[in-house]
Amino acid sequence: MRVAVVSDIHGNLHALEAVLSAVDALEPDELWCLGDIVGYGPRPNECCRAVRERASVCLVGNHDLGVLGTIDLAEFSGEAATAAYWTRSILDDDARSFLTGLRPSAEAQGLELYHASPLDPVWEYVLTEEAAHAALDATKAPAVLVGHSHVALALTPENGEIAGGLAPDGASAEFGERRFLLNPGSVGQPRDGDPRAAFLLLDLASRRAEFHRVEYPIEQTQREIADAGLPAILGQRLAHGQ
Ligand code: ZN
Repeated sequence: MRVAVVSDIHGNLHALEAVLSAVDALEPDELWCLGDIVGYGPRPNECCRAVRERASVCLVGNHDLGVLGTIDLAEFSGEAATAAYWTRSILDDDARSFLTGLRPSAEAQGLELYHASPLDPVWEYVLTEEAAHAALDATKAPAVLVGHSHVALALTPENGEIAGGLAPDGASAEFGERRFLLNPGSVGQPRDGDPRAAFLLLDLASRRAEFHRVEYPIEQTQREIADAGLPAILGQRLAHGQ
């Protein structure tokens, strides 16, 4: 069985469409989504519809919860809060009811999935060695999947330390003999210096994970961000992947 994993789509429909067509070409058996379907980006309703139709497992993220009102937007920084209020104002009933039914963690096919981390599935960023140790200590699955940081990562314990790190396009990880913490990176707002949309392909039989990046028309999303009156920085940062 092969599974494509996406995360942090953030209302960027052009990035999501590019990823879904790259995923289709690989013909996986399932699509999983680690959450943050909305927030920041200009096409939240269309992204919710596409994910609802395609994903067999889907988590909810902090931005989704902020838009729903489950999390107080006082916890969000400037542009994130502005974009969340805007998203809340245009979110349609179908998208709202889809997001309302989601949880921030799941188990699927013997793997553990969290939007953010095992210790705090909604908020904690796993970007340090300490956080990676804690996440792996708190779990048992051969591969633990997290999103939230928008940084594609493959981390594994080695002699009491954490080996691995950034997982660029074409990187792979074998989670057969050693455990891995894997972050597919972000579809709609990458922050690891590569502006291309990210996804992960898992082969559960051979226990191999493969990181992918896909070009998409960034300028179309930037134009939609401007047309929606969202903060300009949200468009600008897409060009740099930061
Ligand atoms: Zn996110």
